[in-house]
Amino acid sequence: MDMAVPGLHQAAPYAGMPTWYAASANPAPQRPVLQGAQRATVCVIGAGFTGLSVALELAEKGIDVIVLESERVGWGASGRNGGQLINGYSRGLDVLEARHGPDVARALGAVALEGAAIIRDRVARYGIACDLVDGGLGVALTAKQMRGLEEEQQVWAAHGHAGITVLDREALRAHVQSDRYVGGILDPLRGHFHPLNYLLGEAAAFEQLGGRLFEHSRVTQVDDSGPRPRVVTAQGEVTADTLVVCGNAYLGKTLPWLSGQIMPVSSQVVTTEPLGDLAAQLLPSNACVEDANYILDYFRRTADGRLLYGGGIVYGGQDPASVEAKIRPGLIKTFPQLKDAKLEFAWSGTFAMTLSRMPQIGRLSPKVFYSHGDSGHGVTTTQLLGRLLGEAIAGQHARFDVFADLPHPPFPGGQRFRAPLSTLGSLWYTLRDRLGV
Ligand SMILES: Cc1cc2nc3c(=O)[nH]c(=O)nc-3n(C[C@H](O)[C@H](O)[C@H](O)COP(=O)(O)OP(=O)(O)OC[C@H]3O[C@@H](n4cnc5c(N)ncnc54)[C@H](O)[C@@H]3O)c2cc1C
Repeated sequence: MDMAVPGLHQAAPYAGMPTWYAASANPAPQRPVLQGAQRATVCVIGAGFTGLSVALELAEKGIDVIVLESERVGWGASGRNGGQLINGYSRGLDVLEARHGPDVARALGAVALEGAAIIRDRVARYGIACDLVDGGLGVALTAKQMRGLEEEQQVWAAHGHAGITVLDREALRAHVQSDRYVGGILDPLRGHFHPLNYLLGEAAAFEQLGGRLFEHSRVTQVDDSGPRPRVVTAQGEVTADTLVVCGNAYLGKTLPWLSGQIMPVSSQVVTTEPLGDLAAQLLPSNACVEDANYILDYFRRTADGRLLYGGGIVYGGQDPASVEAKIRPGLIKTFPQLKDAKLEFAWSGTFAMTLSRMPQIGRLSPKVFYSHGDSGHGVTTTQLLGRLLGEAIAGQHARFDVFADLPHPPFPGGQRFRAPLSTLGSLWYTLRDRLGV
């Protein structure tokens, strides 16, 4: 794969592998490394969507915040994902009602559109240049999946989101020029953006409000034994009244109990070369697309006229030997028109999955909060959870508690067997997708 792409940055330092996002990132300063002993009201671990969402929320309230990032802003899943704003959670509100009852489902439904609204608000308020486009599709490969999407539309309508349209095969072709799909749903409140540029915009806004952000400052130790939590990095330490842990799948061994609650899962993404007019022919309305398979494919146009196509997951979070070999077959199946198109970027990223597929937020102690486990649908949920963490730290717990009170079951098989057991489970669901049963 040729990485010398005209018009894009040659250096793509973010993900340890060259991402189109890093290559097309807006100019941003390198933030300092934490040195010496610092004091803050709130310290946040991780500058991904969750960490920056809570940091900005608190900075807007005038609270003094330090963010510590192990690598660079957006280095984790947040700066490498499909960039799709998908509303709600990795489990439908009907499933959540069956699990937790109508009151909990109603409370979760009441905030399910707020994450995307936060993104749209911040983009407008801070003038963030991140190619935000409205509109997204869920598409079905089988009649059974189509029935599922129709039910999804009805469930959303029952929770007050009446704007979703059901599209039959013909109507869908106005949005996706592929023979693969039997139909779909169009949600105008979905959308897509350049996630890394959004994060860089949030980071700049946070700093303008007085927030302090340190890069290449990995927290290696959390000491919660004194009156205030203290975190330690290679060259410094921060003591804060409150600590918020937002390291998600990249937290590693810093807080072993937290890492044991989730399973790292990697997903892979490629971008083609710029396609000229063909990009608009393939996706005429510029809506983003996610299929309804258990292991799903997701794709969209980029602002410079490429197709960005992702899919294929690896339980345990490892990178596959070849991202291109994993993703190209699905891409060609969807768009045979691209069989000769060159893939200019290919990368992998890791998100955190929970057994319930619902995010987990809570407290490790009265002064140590955490949020993780958006289970592959985190672009909007992380914004919401950042806001709820900000509210809880400021003393308003009601909306935070809706999520914090959800059960947090661990994976069967523990850290050793959770990945092979989940792989087995997903093979079963993939087979059902193929057979359409
Ligand atoms: C390839 C891919 C495609 C995806 N596509 C979509 C999509 O289209 N739509 C969607 O809704 N969701 C998508 N997701 C999921 C979504 O990206 C994640 O749910 C979301 O980004 C998680 O954000 P986060 O802030 O919790 O974690 P992250 O973005 O992973 O951020 C965690 C940060 O914490 C830092 N960190 C970790 N440990 C420490 C430490 N000890 N000290 C300091 N810093 C630390 C890491 O370096 C990292 O920057 C995708 C995920 C992947 C991987």
